[in-house]
Amino acid sequence: MTFQDLNLSTQLLNALDDLGFDTPTPIQEQAFSPVMSGKDVVGIAQTGTGKTYAYMLPILRMLKYSVQQNPRVLVLVPTRELVVQVVDEIEKLSTYVTVRIAGVYGGTNINTQKQVVAQGLDIIVATPGRLYDLAVSRALQLKSIQKLVIDEVDVMMDLGFRHQLMNIFDILPRQRQNVMFSATMTEEVENLITEIFVNPQKISIAKSGT
Ligand code: ADP
Ligand code: MG
Repeated sequence: MTFQDLNLSTQLLNALDDLGFDTPTPIQEQAFSPVMSGKDVVGIAQTGTGKTYAYMLPILRMLKYSVQQNPRVLVLVPTRELVVQVVDEIEKLSTYVTVRIAGVYGGTNINTQKQVVAQGLDIIVATPGRLYDLAVSRALQLKSIQKLVIDEVDVMMDLGFRHQLMNIFDILPRQRQNVMFSATMTEEVENLITEIFVNPQKISIAKSGT
């Protein structure tokens, strides 16, 4: 199978072509339709298997262009480095799509990030603490969030973000799609899924060689 076989737009196919990618990885192939369908999805595949595009391809297929001030997609990741990395990956994939992306994380001036958010955006990539601070200070409106992605959930749990995640769930719209990606399925990850997900579709890619 190639990317041509997925229901992608020309804009996304051209961006993938620029990147030199022609074949989806197993998690990208298997997560595409479930994420597109709007259902809650849990994807498990080891590090380096292309999980970022496993959720971003269907999401960018759906967003197409900017329509309003407030973000519609929230991607939560555990560290500042991952915010930078995921924003970079999304920007490469959205070369020919007019969506606005911003990354926010702690340890830097919040006022600068407030100004970025005030300009309007479609996708926000964030660490949990800074996301919460921006939301409670009313610099960031979460009422239009339709899709929540929690990436690297296992790391998120290891770093003790569980409580902060629960605080964020409380201020997000009830009507939304939840998507979660992780390299491993731990008991803590399983518990989080049970608490917030509605009948999720689980996709698990076995480690190669096993
Ligand atoms: P994971 O989140 O599973 O650790 P990433 O999404 O960070 O993996 O992807 C790992 C690397 O593989 C990145 O450099 C990414 O650009 C690249 N990549 C993603 N999808 C493909 C693909 N279909 N073909 C080739 N390389 C890819
Ligand atoms: Mg990843």
